[in-house]
Amino acid sequence: MSSELNSTYDVIVVGGGAAGVGVAIALLHAGIDNFVVLERHAVGASFAAWPEETRFITPSFPSNSIGILDLNSIAIGISPAYSMEVEHPTGKEYAAHLKAVASHFELPIRERTKVKQISRSDGEFQVRTGTESLRAKHVIWAAGEFQYPHLSSFPGSEFCQHTATIGSYEELEGDDFIIIGGYESGIDAAYHLAFNERRVRLFDSGCPWKDTSSDPSVALSTYSLERMREDWFEEQVKLFPHSPVTAVSKTDGRYEVTVHGQTFRTDVPPVLAGGFTGSHTLVENLFEQRDDGYPLLTEHDESTISPGMFLCGPAVRHENHVFCFIYKYRQRFAVVAKAIATSLGLPAEQLEEYRQWGMYLDDLSCCGDECAVC
Ligand SMILES: Cc1cc2nc3c(=O)[nH]c(=O)nc-3n(C[C@H](O)[C@H](O)[C@H](O)COP(=O)(O)OP(=O)(O)OC[C@H]3O[C@@H](n4cnc5c(N)ncnc54)[C@H](O)[C@@H]3O)c2cc1C
Repeated sequence: MSSELNSTYDVIVVGGGAAGVGVAIALLHAGIDNFVVLERHAVGASFAAWPEETRFITPSFPSNSIGILDLNSIAIGISPAYSMEVEHPTGKEYAAHLKAVASHFELPIRERTKVKQISRSDGEFQVRTGTESLRAKHVIWAAGEFQYPHLSSFPGSEFCQHTATIGSYEELEGDDFIIIGGYESGIDAAYHLAFNERRVRLFDSGCPWKDTSSDPSVALSTYSLERMREDWFEEQVKLFPHSPVTAVSKTDGRYEVTVHGQTFRTDVPPVLAGGFTGSHTLVENLFEQRDDGYPLLTEHDESTISPGMFLCGPAVRHENHVFCFIYKYRQRFAVVAKAIATSLGLPAEQLEEYRQWGMYLDDLSCCGDECAVC
């Protein structure tokens, strides 16, 4: 048995995406070095798997020089805009950025290491991969949502193709598409299909493009609203708001989509843009659940029932705050790192720098009641 197998890590981070890499850098700032990041594929794997044409909706701009962190940055002082020279990166571009950042900080990352199970006994975590069992005092779950799509919203969902499984919209065969879901991914799919001169009918149970909220976790981003005003979008895409799809079936090679008892037909598997179940469901035994199914967290994003177990990334929820974008959930990196450093008896003085960049450090406190997030 190697010495590594006998040792106990101070922290194991599960997942090498934006959240895992970002929180790992915060751990370094907190003076913690006995940790490892376990990544089932490669750093940035989810971003690398986005459809070719899909780009970030949040813009990157090199604003760091005046102390305003680039919206897509995961670490203080880092600006993807500066290093990539692009405002709305593709997934593959951002994956390359994440790899470069991980390598710059010399993060201890083990790729091709899938975490299969986590249990807790005698105040320690046992983290099982395919080949070994590792021990840790703390675990940060940062395995994301993208690789865990929501596939079973209604009978016949299995006939659909989820946006998370599409390699390129241009290369999809067919001329007449039905998209189910009209939030960011659905509008993105419609935009690229329309650009490639395909006809699109898009159904949503609500009407996200008319939502008046200023929070892009609820309403469509400006980037998407702008795209919807392109001539080819208006010509090729027909929107069906307040039209929940209740079933999809396949008859004689054609797909039938049922909405309000009416049937819409297409030759192409309907595109499902219905969001993600999320990886947090794999560790639900270690968290209490909120009414909406998301993990219930302390003010330090720790499990309320398994001390030492933390959550990082887009599944973090506090009351009605949804931290689903990088610029939102990165606010929690230093909070988690500080809580773990405190538990290890480390002063974590360097984390004060996060506060200077407008990041949270002690609790959920934000900039006040006026803030759009609050
Ligand atoms: C189409 C699309 C567009 C988006 N646009 C934006 C945007 O413009 N701006 C923005 O801020 N956000 C955007 N988001 C959201 C953003 O991509 C996610 O919030 C982000 O990917 C979450 O990062 P993460 O690290 O939590 O998850 P991921 O990026 O999914 O990383 C999780 C990592 O964990 C690994 N993993 C999973 N399971 C295991 C396991 N069992 N063991 C070990 N490793 C595991 C995965 O391989 C992956 O590398 C977009 C999302 C999508 C789908």
